[in-house]
Amino acid sequence: MNISKTSLVIGLIGLFGLHAAQAEPLPSPLPCPNPQALGTSRVMSVNAANGLTIGLKTYPQTLALGDHEIVLTFDDGPLPATTRPILDGLKAQCVQATFFLVGRNAAANPQMVKREINEGHTVAHHSMTHPDITLRGLSPNAARDEIENGIKADDMAAYGQTSATPRVPFFRFPGFADTKATLDLLAQKQVAVFGADVWASDWNNMTPQAQLTLLMNRLEAAGRGVVLLHDTRPQTAAMVPDFLRALKAKGFKIVHIVPGSGPTALTPAPAGWQSETEASLKKIMPRLMKAQQRGASAAPVMQIP
Ligand SMILES: [Zn+2]
Repeated sequence: MNISKTSLVIGLIGLFGLHAAQAEPLPSPLPCPNPQALGTSRVMSVNAANGLTIGLKTYPQTLALGDHEIVLTFDDGPLPATTRPILDGLKAQCVQATFFLVGRNAAANPQMVKREINEGHTVAHHSMTHPDITLRGLSPNAARDEIENGIKADDMAAYGQTSATPRVPFFRFPGFADTKATLDLLAQKQVAVFGADVWASDWNNMTPQAQLTLLMNRLEAAGRGVVLLHDTRPQTAAMVPDFLRALKAKGFKIVHIVPGSGPTALTPAPAGWQSETEASLKKIMPRLMKAQQRGASAAPVMQIP
């Protein structure tokens, strides 16, 4: 048996093993009154214990999605002017997504966070202030504060209370700039770290139509994956209704992720995998640190989410 056949068999055994070991029933997608809607195809449980990392742009494994299955994620909000129309668009198509919140935005807009929860979305965490120099550019204590204060602010906005472990133990690093210490901290807290498999590059200015074309081309090429967008970007908010229609037309299916205690269905990176975000960060971090030393805003050189 050659290597690819061996790994296929091992993969199938792993897949059946996961289903056989499934300890809890998965929640069903929410009922949808519109039969023409894109809808949420299925709900996938993600077990955050043991320092799970996900997303091929940064980590050598991702969620085991089927052909044309995607998970929609939105970062940096909530910001009412853009988050509201995105929530309207998702609601119209009965689509559930995951929002990685910036704590200070959550604290300023708790009504938007509560709406996200009421409409069945997953509310996850993306630091307290999203510092330009990323958490990698901060002292270890400051980086820890960014994580912990962000989780507290998000949970206060969402649920009116916080606890030692977040209600939704999902975190994404600003700029994907993790460190060993912050990864260890999140693993210790049993929080899963999300990168992404596909992104829209919506941090670059472009028309909603150009944004749509770029993203659909990338999705057709990748065929599946965890997709990163930003609910703070007007071009993204403007694109969402057409984007959801295009997904339906092209046969894409929406998978909604929720925290769970059962096994997580994962798939390894292909042979020869390398971290794309680490290659970018190696180039960008020295410029960010120099800009900070000069006291200048680092934002103009920030080419990553
Ligand atoms: Zn971000």
